[in-house]
Amino acid sequence: MLTVTWVTDKLAPSGAQSGDPGRGGTPVQVPAPFEYVRATSVENVLELLDRHGEEARVIAGGHSLLPMMKLRLARPEWLIDINDVAELDHLTEDADSLRVGALTRHATLLSSELVGRLFPIIHDAERVIADPVVRNRGTIGGSLGQADPAEDLTTVCDVLDAEIVIAGSAGPRVVGIADLHRGPYETACEQHELITEIRFPIRAGRGSAYEKVERRVGDWAVAAAGASVVLEDDGRICDVTVGLTALGVEGCVPGMLEALCEQQPSEELFAEAGRIAAEASSPVEDQRGPVDYKRHLADELTRRVLRTAVARAGALAAV
Ligand SMILES: Cc1cc2nc3c(=O)[nH]c(=O)nc-3n(C[C@H](O)[C@H](O)[C@H](O)COP(=O)(O)OP(=O)(O)OC[C@H]3O[C@@H](n4cnc5c(N)ncnc54)[C@H](O)[C@@H]3O)c2cc1C
Repeated sequence: MLTVTWVTDKLAPSGAQSGDPGRGGTPVQVPAPFEYVRATSVENVLELLDRHGEEARVIAGGHSLLPMMKLRLARPEWLIDINDVAELDHLTEDADSLRVGALTRHATLLSSELVGRLFPIIHDAERVIADPVVRNRGTIGGSLGQADPAEDLTTVCDVLDAEIVIAGSAGPRVVGIADLHRGPYETACEQHELITEIRFPIRAGRGSAYEKVERRVGDWAVAAAGASVVLEDDGRICDVTVGLTALGVEGCVPGMLEALCEQQPSEELFAEAGRIAAEASSPVEDQRGPVDYKRHLADELTRRVLRTAVARAGALAAV
């Protein structure tokens, strides 16, 4: 176990303690001191969380937690590093689901042929999450654990109706994605628990897609949409879900199934879906754009992802 003071070259925010001056005497931005331990297994993580209590946090890729610590928005006294826990890093196809270990990196999801074949929406989203440096370390468990309202994989999980496996001292429990998120930066994974796996149900003939508008490559979403569509043999829609990112909608957009089910896909139908999505959205004005623009994106991106998801489902049906 080590006591660590993390030092970067960035400027210290007001209130942050500076550690050693950086190169050239530049002030540095450092987290509050913390203790650090590398866990060896899920059981060991749970023991450590239990032992160190409220002041302990697990760290995976560190791409969300470390910036928060440097800004003193998080001040854990103990960091439990899960990067050596090999049982959390897997991609397994079952008869009815794809099981993804919580420590699976964005880059692994993006490079997996299996993932792209079963769930092209995951590849669409991973291509636009941050940059290669973040994708090489950031994990799906960390993304869901962070519960940032502009985070892309939550929408993907909503649309695919994913299940989340959470380990605790009483054993594992499985929660639907809708029950994982309690609000911005808050999840149903309690402090003494660990997300171990994400399960994506496999459905024959499902097409899916994700599209995001960002201010520049690698940025968080101005807005994004994801869709999943299943078609009948005659081409009619028999199941559909649409999710929105950074547009103030919790879970999937309500009313889509009722409006689109049993209908033949058409531009008119996609326009109707876009209208429903825009109406359901509740964006806030910020540096990424005004409310009207974001509502327009909810409409336009919904049409686009439905078009692509239907085309992909149709292509599968034609095979
Ligand atoms: C410059 C930059 C740009 C980014 N752009 C995007 C973007 O466009 N879209 C996007 O979606 N994301 C973006 N991200 C976030 C990125 O995807 C992170 O990798 C991700 O949010 C967190 O993953 P992590 O493994 O780094 O988690 P960490 O930072 O290690 O942890 C984040 C939180 O999750 C908790 N946690 C980690 N693992 C688990 C677990 N197994 N069980 C329970 N809790 C856990 C931690 O305790 C912590 O509270 C960006 C990040 C950066 C730095």
